[in-house]
Amino acid sequence: MKFFDTWTRKKEEFKPLDKMAVKIYSCGPTVYNFAHIGNLRTYLFADILKRSLMYCGYKVKHVMNVTDVGHLTDDGDTGEDKMEKAARMENKSAKDIANFYWQAFRDDLAKLNISEPTIWCRASEYIQEQIDLIKKLEEKGYTYKISDGIYFDTSKIKDYGYLARLDIKGLNEGARIATNKEKRNSTDFALWKFSPTIRKRQQEWESPWAPPGRGKAFGFPGWHTECVAMALKCLGAPIDIHTGAIDLAPVHHTNEIAQARALLNKKFVQIWMHGEFVIINDKKMAKSEGNFMTLASLIGQGYDPMSYRYLCLTTHYRSKLNFNFEALLAAQAGLNNLREKFLNFGKASGNIISEFQKQFADAIDDDLNMPQAMALVWAVLKAEASDADKRATLLDFDKVLGLNLENYQEQSVEIPDDIKKIADERERVRQKKNWKRSDQLRDELEKLGWIVRDTSVGYELKKKI
Ligand code: AMP
Ligand code: ZN
Repeated sequence: MKFFDTWTRKKEEFKPLDKMAVKIYSCGPTVYNFAHIGNLRTYLFADILKRSLMYCGYKVKHVMNVTDVGHLTDDGDTGEDKMEKAARMENKSAKDIANFYWQAFRDDLAKLNISEPTIWCRASEYIQEQIDLIKKLEEKGYTYKISDGIYFDTSKIKDYGYLARLDIKGLNEGARIATNKEKRNSTDFALWKFSPTIRKRQQEWESPWAPPGRGKAFGFPGWHTECVAMALKCLGAPIDIHTGAIDLAPVHHTNEIAQARALLNKKFVQIWMHGEFVIINDKKMAKSEGNFMTLASLIGQGYDPMSYRYLCLTTHYRSKLNFNFEALLAAQAGLNNLREKFLNFGKASGNIISEFQKQFADAIDDDLNMPQAMALVWAVLKAEASDADKRATLLDFDKVLGLNLENYQEQSVEIPDDIKKIADERERVRQKKNWKRSDQLRDELEKLGWIVRDTSVGYELKKKI
């Protein structure tokens, strides 16, 4: 299999480090609010990656973090902790906020048929590991203390910023005025922050560190440390694949790498994989832009959440996905059409068509080429083969696509009386073998938005999308 590695900027041949299980770490949600469909695309990409590896015979150990402390509202280690802010706004405890939005996130994953990670890691449950990690960095001379916390000196890392090809000199010059004056370099980041004195935090811990001139202080870890601490604890280095969306490369992942470089004398991550954004009118979908949509809002407007999965599959994970409702509607129609055809194949078991299977495996191997995989789905539907073999082939593909074809049941919808009358009339003329009239009535139904299908025990009606 070949995957595009953000570090080398090339498609690299994937060689698992351990034959037993491929180790994947995915940066997970900050659970202060509902996820938007842009966030969800990133997890869908990790799901496809996992399913593809399993399709190719690998076992996967997948770890995802839940950020429930330390992610600040502004970049550059300023601003309020997103969790603390949400707790204040909703008048709840930070723990309740985290529990609520984490569950909401898991519900979204289930609705999109995204499999859960093998291990969930909540940042607040790994505080000691983070403190220990920072202590080690301190012993090795990579840290320094300023009035609001302990910082990482990025100038000590030779190739700092390579992942995102950062222009460090330019960044330092450009940021001279804006940056925290006490920081040695604009790219330095907080490992541990002291709790502010103006407002008592809900989540804070004792640590070996205190602000200059104070004996003792509570504090909390910086966001970039949690992922390194938990990845090392739950997976151990080297990790095969680390995933996230592309915006994490220049800061969060760059800072993960810096800490790992300082700590380890071996590679931290074999392949860095990043998913592109969902955009709306050429702008990144983001909570801060106010242009975001949740899965619940799509469902509320009558869309099947799985049509969003289908839509994502039609765009390569490294291409921007331009979200609009025409595209979602087309995806929903495509999915329903596929489901309809699949149901019509009946239940007989057949053989996977090997030629298609080979092409499908090739598409996956080529950096998870899902648009190509989806084109093959339609090629199978049109192929000269038995229904049973087509069904078997699509079920095989669905291990990766995750469209849940086998378990799809047509929803029962209320059939209006006048529609039922026409369908009954059609059934009567069919019994009398009046095919012409039967076809006319079928067309009439279709014009009214209903599709009729004949089965051995009568007819079935389905609403057209
Ligand atoms: P957050 O919960 O804000 O920490 O974000 C969770 C994940 O979603 C991170 O990997 C982000 O980089 C990613 N993300 C944020 N916005 C988008 C977007 N518009 N499209 C795709 N992924 C995104
Ligand atoms: Zn992370």
